[in-house]
Amino acid sequence: MGGRNGEGDYRSWSATPARKQKRRRSHWYSTCRDVRIFVLNSIPLPTDPGLKQLVEETELITDKTSGITFGHGIVLKNGAIDRRLVAHELVHVMQYEKFGGIEAFLKEYVKEVAFPPGYPHGPLEREAAQVADRVCQKP
Ligand SMILES: [Zn+2]
Repeated sequence: MGGRNGEGDYRSWSATPARKQKRRRSHWYSTCRDVRIFVLNSIPLPTDPGLKQLVEETELITDKTSGITFGHGIVLKNGAIDRRLVAHELVHVMQYEKFGGIEAFLKEYVKEVAFPPGYPHGPLEREAAQVADRVCQKP
């Protein structure tokens, strides 16, 4: 963990952070200031061995992956960024907040991707997709 979420080297983020984040459910708007977006040419695999194995086995990160979120940090693939993608990843930030931090969220998310129906058909991914669709609907 390199400092606060969204700062430092995002690849050092782990499923077991050194400290837990505070729950701030009722302060969603204030936490938006904490969101950091990294734009890279590809989404790298995590350095944490357990997470790396998970993303490889579930194909959670492939050449087609356009974004991924860890806590308040969002990594987006250069050239694949659009409003729907940003909205989708911001929903994941909100989900991390609701769960109270990276560890709690990833415990649930790992279950979602590791067991049927698998990625991207579990409730967390469905919520992100549905909210992004709603946000991006034309009036
Ligand atoms: Zn997602």
